[in-house]
Amino acid sequence: MITYPSERVETIIGMIREFMKKEVYPIEGEFAHKKFGELLPLLNEKRAKVKQMGLWAPQVPEEFGGAGLSFIEHAYVSEELGRSPLGHFIFGAQAPDAGNIEILIKYGSKEQKARYLRPLVAGQIRSCFSMTEPEKPGSNPTWMETTAKKDGDDYVINGQKWFTSSAEGSAFAIVMAVTNPDAEPHMRASQIIVPTDTEGFNLVRNISVMGHVGDNYASHAEVLYQSCRVPQANLLGPEGSGFVIAQERLGPGRIHHCMRWMGIAERAFELMCERAATRDVAPGRKLGTRQIIQAWIAECRAEINAARLMVIDAAQKIDKVGAYEAREEISLIKFYGAGVLSKVLDRAIQVHGALGVTDDTPLATFFRHERAAHIYDGPDEVHKVAVARRILRKYGLN
Ligand SMILES: Cc1cc2nc3c(=O)[nH]c(=O)nc-3n(C[C@H](O)[C@H](O)[C@H](O)COP(=O)(O)OP(=O)(O)OC[C@H]3O[C@@H](n4cnc5c(N)ncnc54)[C@H](O)[C@@H]3O)c2cc1C
Repeated sequence: MITYPSERVETIIGMIREFMKKEVYPIEGEFAHKKFGELLPLLNEKRAKVKQMGLWAPQVPEEFGGAGLSFIEHAYVSEELGRSPLGHFIFGAQAPDAGNIEILIKYGSKEQKARYLRPLVAGQIRSCFSMTEPEKPGSNPTWMETTAKKDGDDYVINGQKWFTSSAEGSAFAIVMAVTNPDAEPHMRASQIIVPTDTEGFNLVRNISVMGHVGDNYASHAEVLYQSCRVPQANLLGPEGSGFVIAQERLGPGRIHHCMRWMGIAERAFELMCERAATRDVAPGRKLGTRQIIQAWIAECRAEINAARLMVIDAAQKIDKVGAYEAREEISLIKFYGAGVLSKVLDRAIQVHGALGVTDDTPLATFFRHERAAHIYDGPDEVHKVAVARRILRKYGLN
Protein backbone atom coordinates (compact mmCIF):
# COMPACT_ATOMS: atom_id res chain seq x y z
CA MET A 1 0.00 0.00 0.00
CA ILE A 2 1.43 3.37 -0.99
CA THR A 3 1.38 6.10 1.62
CA TYR A 4 2.13 9.77 1.25
CA PRO A 5 4.61 11.92 3.17
CA SER A 6 3.60 12.66 6.76
CA GLU A 7 2.87 16.23 7.87
CA ARG A 8 6.32 16.36 9.45
CA VAL A 9 7.95 15.43 6.13
CA GLU A 10 5.77 17.88 4.21
CA THR A 11 7.05 20.63 6.52
CA ILE A 12 10.67 19.57 6.05
CA ILE A 13 10.22 19.34 2.28
CA GLY A 14 8.72 22.84 2.29
CA MET A 15 11.79 24.16 4.13
CA ILE A 16 14.14 22.39 1.74
CA ARG A 17 12.24 23.64 -1.32
CA GLU A 18 12.56 27.24 -0.14
CA PHE A 19 16.25 26.79 0.65
CA MET A 20 16.96 25.20 -2.72
CA LYS A 21 15.24 28.04 -4.56
CA LYS A 22 16.99 30.77 -2.61
CA GLU A 23 20.42 29.29 -1.95
CA VAL A 24 21.14 26.40 -4.31
CA TYR A 25 19.60 26.91 -7.77
CA PRO A 26 21.28 30.32 -8.18
CA ILE A 27 24.77 28.78 -7.81
CA GLU A 28 24.25 25.79 -10.12
CA GLY A 29 25.80 27.63 -13.05
CA GLU A 30 29.04 27.90 -11.10
CA PHE A 31 29.05 24.13 -10.59
CA ALA A 32 28.98 23.69 -14.37
CA HIS A 33 31.81 26.16 -14.99
CA LYS A 34 34.14 26.06 -11.98
CA LYS A 35 36.32 23.43 -10.39
CA PHE A 36 34.62 21.84 -7.41
CA GLY A 37 37.52 22.82 -5.15
CA GLU A 38 37.04 26.48 -6.09
CA LEU A 39 33.37 26.24 -5.24
CA LEU A 40 33.98 24.63 -1.83
CA PRO A 41 34.16 27.82 0.29
CA LEU A 42 30.76 28.87 -1.04
CA LEU A 43 29.34 25.37 -0.55
CA ASN A 44 30.64 25.34 3.02
CA GLU A 45 28.74 28.58 3.71
CA LYS A 46 25.58 26.89 2.44
CA ARG A 47 26.33 23.81 4.53
CA ALA A 48 26.60 25.99 7.66
CA LYS A 49 23.12 27.36 6.93
CA VAL A 50 21.72 23.83 6.57
CA LYS A 51 23.22 22.94 9.96
CA GLN A 52 21.52 25.98 11.48
CA MET A 53 18.19 24.80 10.03
CA GLY A 54 18.65 21.45 11.81
CA LEU A 55 18.51 19.49 8.56
CA TRP A 56 22.16 18.47 8.26
CA ALA A 57 22.79 14.80 7.42
CA PRO A 58 19.02 14.15 7.34
CA GLN A 59 19.38 10.37 7.07
CA VAL A 60 21.77 9.91 10.01
CA PRO A 61 20.41 9.05 13.49
CA GLU A 62 20.54 11.98 15.93
CA GLU A 63 22.87 10.12 18.29
CA PHE A 64 25.52 10.21 15.54
CA GLY A 65 24.99 13.87 14.67
CA GLY A 66 22.32 13.78 11.96
CA ALA A 67 18.72 14.98 11.74
CA GLY A 68 17.37 11.47 12.45
CA LEU A 69 14.84 11.02 9.64
CA SER A 70 13.44 7.55 9.09
CA PHE A 71 14.33 5.61 5.95
CA ILE A 72 11.11 6.57 4.12
CA GLU A 73 11.26 10.17 5.30
CA HIS A 74 14.73 10.44 3.85
CA ALA A 75 13.54 8.93 0.57
CA TYR A 76 11.21 11.93 0.14
CA VAL A 77 13.97 14.32 1.18
CA SER A 78 16.38 12.70 -1.26
CA GLU A 79 13.91 13.42 -4.07
CA GLU A 80 13.84 17.08 -3.11
CA LEU A 81 17.63 17.34 -2.84
CA GLY A 82 18.06 15.54 -6.17
CA ARG A 83 16.49 18.49 -7.99
CA SER A 84 19.94 20.09 -8.02
CA PRO A 85 23.33 18.45 -8.66
CA LEU A 86 24.48 20.22 -5.46
CA GLY A 87 21.55 19.32 -3.18
CA HIS A 88 22.86 16.19 -1.49
CA PHE A 89 26.34 17.63 -0.95
CA ILE A 90 25.04 20.82 0.63
CA PHE A 91 22.83 18.82 3.03
CA GLY A 92 25.54 16.31 4.00
CA ALA A 93 23.69 13.40 2.37
CA GLN A 94 26.00 12.73 -0.58
CA ALA A 95 27.28 9.42 -1.92
CA PRO A 96 29.64 7.73 -1.22
CA ASP A 97 29.83 9.21 2.30
CA ALA A 98 26.18 8.38 3.05
CA GLY A 99 26.80 4.68 2.33
CA ASN A 100 30.04 4.66 4.31
CA ILE A 101 28.27 6.31 7.24
CA GLU A 102 25.62 3.62 7.14
CA ILE A 103 28.10 0.75 7.33
CA LEU A 104 30.28 2.48 9.93
CA ILE A 105 27.20 2.88 12.13
CA LYS A 106 26.32 -0.78 11.70
CA TYR A 107 29.75 -2.41 11.74
CA GLY A 108 32.24 0.15 13.05
CA SER A 109 34.05 -0.52 16.32
CA LYS A 110 33.97 2.11 19.08
CA GLU A 111 37.35 3.41 17.93
CA GLN A 112 36.35 3.42 14.24
CA LYS A 113 33.21 5.35 15.09
CA ALA A 114 35.17 7.96 17.05
CA ARG A 115 37.95 8.36 14.50
CA TYR A 116 36.08 8.06 11.19
CA LEU A 117 32.31 8.15 11.64
CA ARG A 118 31.92 11.24 13.84
CA PRO A 119 34.00 13.65 11.74
CA LEU A 120 32.49 12.17 8.56
CA VAL A 121 28.92 12.86 9.70
CA ALA A 122 29.98 16.34 10.84
CA GLY A 123 31.27 17.07 7.33
CA GLN A 124 34.79 17.72 8.63
CA ILE A 125 36.21 14.99 6.42
CA ARG A 126 35.14 13.03 3.33
CA SER A 127 35.56 9.39 2.36
CA CYS A 128 35.45 7.06 -0.63
CA PHE A 129 34.58 3.44 -1.41
CA SER A 130 37.10 1.34 -3.35
CA MET A 131 35.52 -1.82 -4.72
CA THR A 132 35.56 -1.82 -8.52
CA GLU A 133 38.67 -2.92 -10.42
CA PRO A 134 39.58 -2.19 -14.04
CA GLU A 135 40.54 -5.81 -14.80
CA LYS A 136 37.61 -7.57 -13.12
CA PRO A 137 33.83 -7.19 -13.65
CA GLY A 138 32.34 -4.82 -11.13
CA SER A 139 29.00 -6.50 -11.83
CA ASN A 140 30.38 -9.60 -10.08
CA PRO A 141 32.03 -8.26 -6.94
CA THR A 142 32.74 -11.75 -5.58
CA TRP A 143 35.58 -11.90 -8.12
CA MET A 144 38.40 -9.44 -7.51
CA GLU A 145 42.19 -9.31 -7.53
CA THR A 146 43.01 -6.93 -4.69
CA THR A 147 44.34 -8.80 -1.69
CA ALA A 148 44.83 -7.96 1.99
CA LYS A 149 47.33 -10.31 3.58
CA LYS A 150 47.99 -10.50 7.31
CA ASP A 151 51.47 -9.56 8.42
CA GLY A 152 52.00 -9.25 12.18
CA ASP A 153 49.23 -7.00 13.47
CA ASP A 154 48.62 -5.48 10.06
CA TYR A 155 46.95 -6.10 6.71
CA VAL A 156 49.11 -5.43 3.65
CA ILE A 157 46.90 -4.43 0.72
CA ASN A 158 47.87 -4.78 -2.95
CA GLY A 159 45.68 -4.13 -5.96
CA GLN A 160 44.34 -1.71 -8.51
CA LYS A 161 40.95 -0.03 -8.18
CA TRP A 162 39.10 2.46 -10.30
CA PHE A 163 35.97 4.53 -10.13
CA THR A 164 36.74 5.18 -6.50
CA SER A 165 34.46 8.22 -6.55
CA SER A 166 35.51 11.33 -4.63
CA ALA A 167 38.88 9.84 -3.57
CA GLU A 168 40.65 13.17 -4.16
CA GLY A 169 40.50 15.05 -0.87
CA SER A 170 39.09 12.07 1.06
CA ALA A 171 40.50 11.30 4.50
CA PHE A 172 39.96 7.57 4.17
CA ALA A 173 38.83 4.85 1.80
CA ILE A 174 36.84 1.74 2.60
CA VAL A 175 38.52 -0.91 0.47
CA MET A 176 37.20 -4.30 -0.59
CA ALA A 177 40.03 -6.84 -0.69
CA VAL A 178 40.34 -10.62 -0.66
CA THR A 179 41.36 -11.77 2.83
CA ASN A 180 40.16 -15.38 2.64
CA PRO A 181 40.96 -16.71 -0.88
CA ASP A 182 39.99 -20.29 -0.02
CA ALA A 183 36.55 -19.49 1.34
CA GLU A 184 33.43 -19.80 -0.84
CA PRO A 185 33.16 -16.84 -3.26
CA HIS A 186 30.75 -14.72 -1.17
CA MET A 187 32.98 -14.98 1.89
CA ARG A 188 36.40 -14.19 0.37
CA ALA A 189 36.59 -10.41 0.65
CA SER A 190 36.59 -8.01 3.57
CA GLN A 191 36.13 -4.26 3.93
CA ILE A 192 39.07 -2.43 5.42
CA ILE A 193 39.47 1.23 6.34
CA VAL A 194 42.54 2.81 4.76
CA PRO A 195 43.47 6.41 5.64
CA THR A 196 44.47 8.04 2.37
CA ASP A 197 47.74 9.34 3.84
CA THR A 198 48.91 5.73 4.35
CA GLU A 199 52.08 4.92 2.44
CA GLY A 200 51.11 2.78 -0.56
CA PHE A 201 47.76 4.52 -1.16
CA ASN A 202 48.43 6.02 -4.58
CA LEU A 203 45.86 8.14 -6.35
CA VAL A 204 47.03 7.54 -9.91
CA ARG A 205 44.61 9.86 -11.70
CA ASN A 206 41.14 11.27 -11.81
CA ILE A 207 39.47 9.50 -14.73
CA SER A 208 38.02 11.68 -17.45
CA VAL A 209 34.27 10.93 -17.52
CA MET A 210 32.10 12.32 -20.34
CA GLY A 211 34.75 14.89 -21.13
CA HIS A 212 35.33 16.00 -17.51
CA VAL A 213 38.30 15.00 -15.39
CA GLY A 214 36.66 16.53 -12.32
CA ASP A 215 38.33 17.33 -9.05
CA ASN A 216 37.87 17.02 -5.31
CA TYR A 217 34.43 15.58 -4.41
CA ALA A 218 33.31 15.65 -8.06
CA SER A 219 35.80 13.08 -9.36
CA HIS A 220 36.32 9.37 -9.96
CA ALA A 221 39.81 8.10 -9.23
CA GLU A 222 42.04 5.24 -10.19
CA VAL A 223 43.84 4.11 -7.05
CA LEU A 224 46.81 1.77 -6.77
CA TYR A 225 47.27 0.04 -3.44
CA GLN A 226 50.93 -0.91 -3.24
CA SER A 227 52.02 -2.74 -0.09
CA CYS A 228 49.61 -0.48 1.72
CA ARG A 229 49.86 -1.40 5.41
CA VAL A 230 47.08 -0.75 7.92
CA PRO A 231 46.40 -2.25 11.37
CA GLN A 232 44.07 -5.25 11.47
CA ALA A 233 41.94 -3.11 13.79
CA ASN A 234 40.87 -1.28 10.60
CA LEU A 235 38.83 -4.30 9.49
CA LEU A 236 35.16 -3.32 9.24
CA GLY A 237 32.84 -6.03 10.58
CA PRO A 238 33.83 -9.71 10.55
CA GLU A 239 36.57 -10.92 8.21
CA GLY A 240 35.10 -12.35 4.99
CA SER A 241 31.87 -10.33 5.23
CA GLY A 242 32.86 -7.67 2.68
CA PHE A 243 30.36 -8.85 0.07
CA VAL A 244 27.50 -9.08 2.58
CA ILE A 245 28.26 -5.57 3.88
CA ALA A 246 28.47 -4.25 0.30
CA GLN A 247 25.04 -5.71 -0.47
CA GLU A 248 23.60 -4.16 2.70
CA ARG A 249 25.13 -0.83 1.74
CA LEU A 250 23.70 -0.97 -1.75
CA GLY A 251 20.12 -2.13 -1.03
CA PRO A 252 18.72 0.86 0.85
CA GLY A 253 21.24 3.12 -0.94
CA ARG A 254 19.49 2.29 -4.22
CA ILE A 255 16.22 3.73 -2.86
CA HIS A 256 17.95 7.02 -2.12
CA HIS A 257 19.58 7.04 -5.56
CA CYS A 258 16.24 6.27 -7.22
CA MET A 259 14.43 9.01 -5.29
CA ARG A 260 17.27 11.38 -6.20
CA TRP A 261 16.64 10.43 -9.83
CA MET A 262 12.94 11.19 -9.38
CA GLY A 263 13.93 14.67 -8.15
CA ILE A 264 16.10 15.15 -11.24
CA ALA A 265 13.29 13.90 -13.49
CA GLU A 266 10.79 16.30 -11.86
CA ARG A 267 13.16 19.23 -12.32
CA ALA A 268 13.77 18.31 -15.97
CA PHE A 269 10.03 17.88 -16.47
CA GLU A 270 9.33 21.34 -15.04
CA LEU A 271 11.97 22.92 -17.26
CA MET A 272 10.55 21.08 -20.27
CA CYS A 273 7.00 22.30 -19.56
CA GLU A 274 8.15 25.88 -18.92
CA ARG A 275 10.02 25.89 -22.21
CA ALA A 276 7.11 24.33 -24.12
CA ALA A 277 4.74 26.94 -22.71
CA THR A 278 6.94 29.96 -23.51
CA ARG A 279 8.98 29.19 -26.65
CA ASP A 280 7.46 30.49 -29.89
CA VAL A 281 7.96 28.16 -32.85
CA ALA A 282 5.97 30.41 -35.20
CA PRO A 283 4.43 33.83 -34.67
CA GLY A 284 1.91 33.44 -31.87
CA ARG A 285 2.41 29.65 -31.72
CA LYS A 286 4.06 28.13 -28.68
CA LEU A 287 6.04 24.89 -28.84
CA GLY A 288 3.60 23.32 -26.38
CA THR A 289 0.77 23.58 -28.94
CA ARG A 290 2.45 20.84 -30.99
CA GLN A 291 0.96 17.42 -30.37
CA ILE A 292 4.26 15.57 -30.33
CA ILE A 293 5.47 17.79 -27.47
CA GLN A 294 2.16 17.30 -25.68
CA ALA A 295 2.53 13.53 -26.05
CA TRP A 296 6.04 13.68 -24.53
CA ILE A 297 4.75 15.75 -21.64
CA ALA A 298 1.91 13.31 -20.93
CA GLU A 299 4.18 10.27 -21.28
CA CYS A 300 6.86 11.75 -19.03
CA ARG A 301 4.26 12.59 -16.38
CA ALA A 302 2.92 9.04 -16.42
CA GLU A 303 6.40 7.49 -16.37
CA ILE A 304 7.69 9.64 -13.50
CA ASN A 305 4.54 8.95 -11.48
CA ALA A 306 4.85 5.21 -12.09
CA ALA A 307 8.56 5.08 -11.23
CA ARG A 308 8.09 7.20 -8.12
CA LEU A 309 5.30 4.97 -6.80
CA MET A 310 7.46 1.92 -7.46
CA VAL A 311 10.33 3.44 -5.47
CA ILE A 312 8.07 4.31 -2.55
CA ASP A 313 6.60 0.81 -2.67
CA ALA A 314 10.11 -0.70 -2.52
CA ALA A 315 11.07 1.65 0.34
CA GLN A 316 8.01 0.60 2.31
CA LYS A 317 8.76 -3.06 1.75
CA ILE A 318 12.35 -2.56 2.97
CA ASP A 319 11.00 -0.80 6.05
CA LYS A 320 8.57 -3.65 6.72
CA VAL A 321 10.50 -6.81 5.89
CA GLY A 322 14.10 -5.72 5.19
CA ALA A 323 16.24 -5.22 2.08
CA TYR A 324 16.72 -8.94 1.38
CA GLU A 325 12.99 -9.68 1.13
CA ALA A 326 12.54 -6.53 -0.98
CA ARG A 327 15.30 -7.43 -3.44
CA GLU A 328 12.94 -7.90 -6.36
CA GLU A 329 11.31 -4.48 -5.86
CA ILE A 330 14.77 -2.92 -5.47
CA SER A 331 15.97 -4.47 -8.74
CA LEU A 332 12.82 -3.33 -10.55
CA ILE A 333 13.21 0.30 -9.56
CA LYS A 334 16.95 0.29 -10.21
CA PHE A 335 16.57 -0.36 -13.95
CA TYR A 336 13.09 1.08 -14.45
CA GLY A 337 13.95 4.30 -12.59
CA ALA A 338 17.19 4.73 -14.55
CA GLY A 339 15.24 4.24 -17.79
CA VAL A 340 12.64 6.85 -16.88
CA LEU A 341 15.33 9.29 -15.81
CA SER A 342 17.20 8.92 -19.11
CA LYS A 343 14.05 9.28 -21.19
CA VAL A 344 12.81 12.38 -19.36
CA LEU A 345 16.22 14.07 -19.52
CA ASP A 346 16.53 13.27 -23.21
CA ARG A 347 13.10 14.71 -24.03
CA ALA A 348 13.66 17.79 -21.87
CA ILE A 349 16.90 18.49 -23.75
CA GLN A 350 15.16 17.94 -27.09
CA VAL A 351 12.39 20.40 -26.21
CA HIS A 352 15.05 23.01 -25.36
CA GLY A 353 16.77 22.58 -28.72
CA ALA A 354 20.34 23.92 -28.76
CA LEU A 355 19.78 25.51 -25.35
CA GLY A 356 19.34 22.00 -23.97
CA VAL A 357 22.94 21.02 -24.64
CA THR A 358 24.40 24.24 -23.20
CA ASP A 359 25.26 24.69 -19.55
CA ASP A 360 22.76 27.54 -19.25
CA THR A 361 20.29 25.04 -17.77
CA PRO A 362 21.21 22.10 -15.47
CA LEU A 363 19.93 19.61 -18.08
CA ALA A 364 23.28 18.97 -19.77
CA THR A 365 25.01 18.44 -16.40
CA PHE A 366 22.30 15.98 -15.38
CA PHE A 367 22.54 14.20 -18.74
CA ARG A 368 26.31 13.84 -18.51
CA HIS A 369 26.30 12.63 -14.92
CA GLU A 370 23.26 10.42 -14.90
CA ARG A 371 23.97 8.15 -17.88
CA ALA A 372 25.90 6.18 -15.30
CA ALA A 373 22.64 5.42 -13.47
CA HIS A 374 22.30 2.41 -15.79
CA ILE A 375 25.72 1.12 -14.68
CA TYR A 376 26.57 1.78 -11.01
CA ASP A 377 24.95 -0.12 -8.13
CA GLY A 378 24.43 -3.03 -10.52
CA PRO A 379 24.01 -2.57 -14.29
CA ASP A 380 20.44 -2.69 -15.66
CA GLU A 381 21.00 -6.12 -17.21
CA VAL A 382 22.09 -7.72 -13.93
CA HIS A 383 18.92 -6.50 -12.22
CA LYS A 384 16.71 -7.58 -15.12
CA VAL A 385 18.23 -11.06 -15.21
CA ALA A 386 17.89 -11.41 -11.43
CA VAL A 387 14.20 -10.42 -11.49
CA ALA A 388 13.36 -12.61 -14.47
CA ARG A 389 15.12 -15.65 -13.00
CA ARG A 390 13.21 -15.32 -9.74
CA ILE A 391 9.93 -15.01 -11.62
CA LEU A 392 10.68 -17.95 -13.91
CA ARG A 393 11.64 -20.10 -10.95
CA LYS A 394 7.98 -19.94 -9.92
CA TYR A 395 7.20 -21.52 -13.30
CA GLY A 396 9.66 -24.35 -12.73
CA LEU A 397 12.63 -22.97 -14.70
CA ASN A 398 15.80 -23.05 -12.63
C1 LIG B 1 29.88 7.32 -12.24
C2 LIG B 1 30.29 6.04 -11.58
C3 LIG B 1 30.64 6.05 -10.24
C4 LIG B 1 31.09 4.89 -9.61
N1 LIG B 1 31.50 4.94 -8.30
C5 LIG B 1 32.04 3.85 -7.74
C6 LIG B 1 32.61 3.91 -6.42
O1 LIG B 1 32.59 4.95 -5.76
N2 LIG B 1 33.23 2.80 -5.93
C7 LIG B 1 33.30 1.64 -6.63
O2 LIG B 1 33.86 0.69 -6.13
N3 LIG B 1 32.76 1.54 -7.87
C8 LIG B 1 32.15 2.62 -8.44
N4 LIG B 1 31.65 2.54 -9.72
C9 LIG B 1 31.80 1.32 -10.49
C10 LIG B 1 30.50 0.54 -10.68
O3 LIG B 1 30.12 -0.06 -9.47
C11 LIG B 1 30.76 -0.49 -11.79
O4 LIG B 1 30.98 0.24 -13.00
C12 LIG B 1 29.60 -1.45 -11.98
O5 LIG B 1 29.51 -2.34 -10.89
C13 LIG B 1 29.77 -2.28 -13.27
O6 LIG B 1 31.02 -2.89 -13.29
P1 LIG B 1 31.99 -2.74 -14.57
O7 LIG B 1 32.10 -1.32 -14.91
O8 LIG B 1 33.23 -3.47 -14.26
O9 LIG B 1 31.21 -3.44 -15.75
P2 LIG B 1 31.21 -5.00 -16.12
O10 LIG B 1 31.01 -5.81 -14.89
O11 LIG B 1 32.39 -5.28 -16.97
O12 LIG B 1 29.90 -5.08 -17.00
C14 LIG B 1 29.83 -4.43 -18.29
C15 LIG B 1 28.44 -4.57 -18.85
O13 LIG B 1 28.16 -5.92 -19.06
C16 LIG B 1 26.79 -6.18 -18.89
N5 LIG B 1 26.64 -7.25 -17.90
C17 LIG B 1 27.40 -7.46 -16.79
N6 LIG B 1 26.98 -8.55 -16.11
C18 LIG B 1 25.93 -9.04 -16.82
C19 LIG B 1 25.04 -10.15 -16.64
N7 LIG B 1 25.14 -10.96 -15.58
N8 LIG B 1 24.08 -10.35 -17.57
C20 LIG B 1 23.95 -9.52 -18.64
N9 LIG B 1 24.74 -8.46 -18.85
C21 LIG B 1 25.71 -8.22 -17.95
C22 LIG B 1 26.15 -4.87 -18.43
O14 LIG B 1 25.57 -4.22 -19.54
C23 LIG B 1 27.33 -4.07 -17.93
O15 LIG B 1 27.11 -2.65 -18.02
C24 LIG B 1 31.16 3.69 -10.36
C25 LIG B 1 30.78 3.68 -11.69
C26 LIG B 1 30.36 4.83 -12.32
C27 LIG B 1 30.00 4.77 -13.77
